[in-house]
Amino acid sequence: MNIINTIMKPVSIIMLLGMLLAGCQAKEKWYRGNTHTHTYWSDGDAAPDQVVAWYVDHDYDFLVLSDHNVMQQGERWHPITETGSLPLTQQHVDLIEERFEPGWVEIRERDGVREMRLKTLPELQAFCKEEGLVLIPGEEVTDRWNKNEVHINAINNIEVIPPQHGDSVQDTIQRNLDAIAEHGRKHDRPVLGHVNHPNFVWSLTVEDIASIRGERFFEVYNGHRSVKNHGDATHPSTDELWDLALVERLANGAGDGELLYAVATDDAHNHHGNNLHSIPGRGWIMVHTDACTPESIIPAMKRGDFYASSGVNLNGISADGRRLRLWITEQPGATYTTEFIGVRRSDDGEWTKPGVLSTVVGTSATYEFTGDELYVRPRVTSSLPHPRPYKEGDRQMAWGQPVRPG
Ligand SMILES: [Zn+2]
Ligand SMILES: [Zn+2]
Repeated sequence: MNIINTIMKPVSIIMLLGMLLAGCQAKEKWYRGNTHTHTYWSDGDAAPDQVVAWYVDHDYDFLVLSDHNVMQQGERWHPITETGSLPLTQQHVDLIEERFEPGWVEIRERDGVREMRLKTLPELQAFCKEEGLVLIPGEEVTDRWNKNEVHINAINNIEVIPPQHGDSVQDTIQRNLDAIAEHGRKHDRPVLGHVNHPNFVWSLTVEDIASIRGERFFEVYNGHRSVKNHGDATHPSTDELWDLALVERLANGAGDGELLYAVATDDAHNHHGNNLHSIPGRGWIMVHTDACTPESIIPAMKRGDFYASSGVNLNGISADGRRLRLWITEQPGATYTTEFIGVRRSDDGEWTKPGVLSTVVGTSATYEFTGDELYVRPRVTSSLPHPRPYKEGDRQMAWGQPVRPG
């Protein structure tokens, strides 16, 4: 099993000196990123430059703009109006002019309407590079089967991947995941697909998520107000769905039988709103790797070297097949509860239902494997409320990836 982070291992002065003398540097770091956000290029309510500037100003290392079936390519102008569904007000134009260098904003007038040109991906990437944010290309491949919404984020694609359409929900998911993987092979670049908001209009079932092959990522937390992360009386929460899908895959051979990893994202559409809207800053991932590039981040995610967060940060997390350990970055006034969730074999040899195997209160937590687990995953909940909650009462959390005893 991989050591995800060794940052908390005690390092003696002698070892440290030895490392310095040997020219060694601690190579790997945690990089914070959001892989799901919308702009005027589709149905987001802000210009792409204003959106990326928000992430620059809020301590992110990487970002993916994931507009619906479109990338930020070509010439596009947006009307400057005070009303309408996606109004670009003069006040927002003024804010962009203030934030960016003189001459950045381009305005024209067509048929008596003033319009602002939307910045393209290369222009946005150049700005982000100057500001220390890595802008990774992306798209929300937005498909549907009957009334079921099948939305899959493509990360690091170089051109638009059109929705592939299928003859069932599972076929639609798989065709789109396969198209993303094929795009990566064709263009010889790392790409990743994650299945989005399974509970959005109750579109995807446990079986649908369990069935995916090749790519194996889904959103356990999506910050959009309508996606029903918490489920309801007849639908599992996304957290429960994760466990049920893991059992289907690991115990019953669904999909490709591999572990299923989870991301947290913003899915921000309302960049000027308040907590009642789908604002940025709700969910993100922390990826542990040696460089903030798609070539490092995507393989690290495929190894499971990342966690999902809605506010709790970890100093480190490690798994060696015998124990699973994590260390929490303490915030003043917070207490932390870590639940190790999983499935174990009962005395009669059957798998138990997914549930909490042990709970630890404190800033570090360890789970010792007995060897009879199907998988275990840690989930940390802070006593502090989420400052930009998806739903009233949300607290800050972190979700580690599932691991198997080894
Ligand atoms: Zn979506
Ligand atoms: Zn979206």
